[in-house]
Amino acid sequence: MDSEILSRLAYQTLLHLQRCGLRRVPRGPLDPSLDDLLNNSTLPGQGMDKPPAASSAVISQAATGGVVDGNNTPEVTTSPASATETMAPADHPTILPSPTDQDAIPDHWTLPVWEDEQRSQRLAAIDKEVRACRKCSDIVAYRTKTVFGEGPLRPTICFMGEAPGADEDRQGRPFVGRAGQLLTKIIAAMKLQRDEVYILNALKCRPPNNRTPDVQEIENCRPYVEAQLEILQPRYIVCLGAVAARSLLRATTSVGRMRGRFHQYKGAKVVVTYHPSYLLRNEDAKRLVWEDMKMLMREMGTLA
Ligand code: URA
Repeated sequence: MDSEILSRLAYQTLLHLQRCGLRRVPRGPLDPSLDDLLNNSTLPGQGMDKPPAASSAVISQAATGGVVDGNNTPEVTTSPASATETMAPADHPTILPSPTDQDAIPDHWTLPVWEDEQRSQRLAAIDKEVRACRKCSDIVAYRTKTVFGEGPLRPTICFMGEAPGADEDRQGRPFVGRAGQLLTKIIAAMKLQRDEVYILNALKCRPPNNRTPDVQEIENCRPYVEAQLEILQPRYIVCLGAVAARSLLRATTSVGRMRGRFHQYKGAKVVVTYHPSYLLRNEDAKRLVWEDMKMLMREMGTLA
């Protein structure tokens, strides 16, 4: 192959990468704090991540007892056994109807700011619904435990991942495997303790063989996530990977195009960055994640 053909091929490849939202990763030393924390973590790839995927749907428990299903079709539930029905005061739903894709996401939280006890009760009610959920036929027989999420009742930051992996499915806790160890290091590099942040996923159950959740599965789980966030009302949300971004923001673009700036989800500022599993396989992307975390710390006033 002569050099002209080679350079044309290289040019076309570059154009293709740019269209996919990939940019050249600058070389140079990492920020020392993250360098220490991340480069000491020679964590083998978990083999699970892919940054892409889905959108909205629900369960909704309105004050009237109305429920909206995954197709947003209102139907009435009268089951007194429903935890949300018994625990939520009549004037405030525990689980909200999800806006459809056509609806704009409001620029503010739609529930009041609850006291800790109410938060705890409402989260427990949603968790109970999640454990009883059978919406995703491919997943339900496969899961060991649902993974609701964990963290303080009044978090400043929520980290939102894709879906539980094998370790999370066994333990019922988010980000406890290899990707979780890396996330914990990223949190530490931000001068935070892991138990100071709330961690959840776009999906509450592990997809078979850690495959990427499909659009309907993300839709099915979105109401739980939305309800959970409405109760927690964090000031900042970090979407780890494209599935989280798509679930939260209904975004269909790549992480590369969404990262590096703030988005908004209701009352929270949102950062979209690469998933820790992706970092385990793509060392160069760590620098970009750290840039995103520094942007967030600057905004929070915690960057030294
Ligand atoms: N990956 C995720 O997205 N979430 C987890 O909880 C673990 C791995």
